[in-house]
Amino acid sequence: MRKTKMRWAAGLLALCQLIGCSPAAGPAPEKTPGTLLVYASFYPMYDFATKIGGDRARVVNMVPAGMEPHDWEPAAADIAGLEAADVFVYNGAGFEHWVDSVLGSLENRSLVAVEASRGAVPQGETPGRAGEAEARDPHVWLSPRAAKAEMQNIADAFVQADPENKAVYEENRARWAEVLDALDREFREALDPLPRRDVVVSHRAFGYLCADYGLNQVAVEGLSPDAEPDPARVAEVIELAGARDVRVIFFEETVSPKVAEIIAEAVGAETGVLSPLESLSDERQAAGADYISVMRENLEALRAALA
Ligand SMILES: [Zn+2]
Repeated sequence: MRKTKMRWAAGLLALCQLIGCSPAAGPAPEKTPGTLLVYASFYPMYDFATKIGGDRARVVNMVPAGMEPHDWEPAAADIAGLEAADVFVYNGAGFEHWVDSVLGSLENRSLVAVEASRGAVPQGETPGRAGEAEARDPHVWLSPRAAKAEMQNIADAFVQADPENKAVYEENRARWAEVLDALDREFREALDPLPRRDVVVSHRAFGYLCADYGLNQVAVEGLSPDAEPDPARVAEVIELAGARDVRVIFFEETVSPKVAEIIAEAVGAETGVLSPLESLSDERQAAGADYISVMRENLEALRAALA
């Protein structure tokens, strides 16, 4: 009987490795003395927290790898994890719609919760299109400059939760700040001289990135990916893309390329991937991909499209 159970458990583990289950799907992780237990609300928060925490923190990504996080909500196991955690890192600016109610219901009084996007972009700077002008754009992490500010906020939270290791967190923050400064320079130097300025994307995630580098985002969908975009909007984008000689229509890995293909076909453009970094597959993470490397891929894609 016990042997059968063990075999079943081993099979489940193998299945999990194959399809990429989130570590948060199981029971709350054991706490390790001397190590911060950090819960991160989705991939970029997980990546930033991992970079700041180094070997002083165990970071759990709450949203399973490869899953679209806009509509995700925590399950009981995730809440149990938050009750045990030392730090909770979330982007904020309205991205995690569940945060206020969950934080209000937790009994964990020592939890340090940090809204990483706080102060990371100038107030009121939410580049948008008509009809969505009132909604805040939460995709702050896609600006390398704002990502640096988010990491600063995360480092401050780690210091608050674990002041003994302040020097470690400060050193990690400073090191990654240099990397993000370099990334920002790479974007500016590569994109500044290019003649084209229009970036046609599916979901409106690249406002801060485009604002940083003087580009014009043309989005088919809204602030979160829609299953069925408005045909009138698709027609508008086709007209604009044709008039401005757009060469590449972008889509993202976790969403069907169908609409991008229709637009590309109509205007004689190609399709390409621009990642909003809202998730990253286990395979890609295992292969060493992270925020920095995917942003460099985004830069290469933009460079090719705008030349
Ligand atoms: Zn999004």
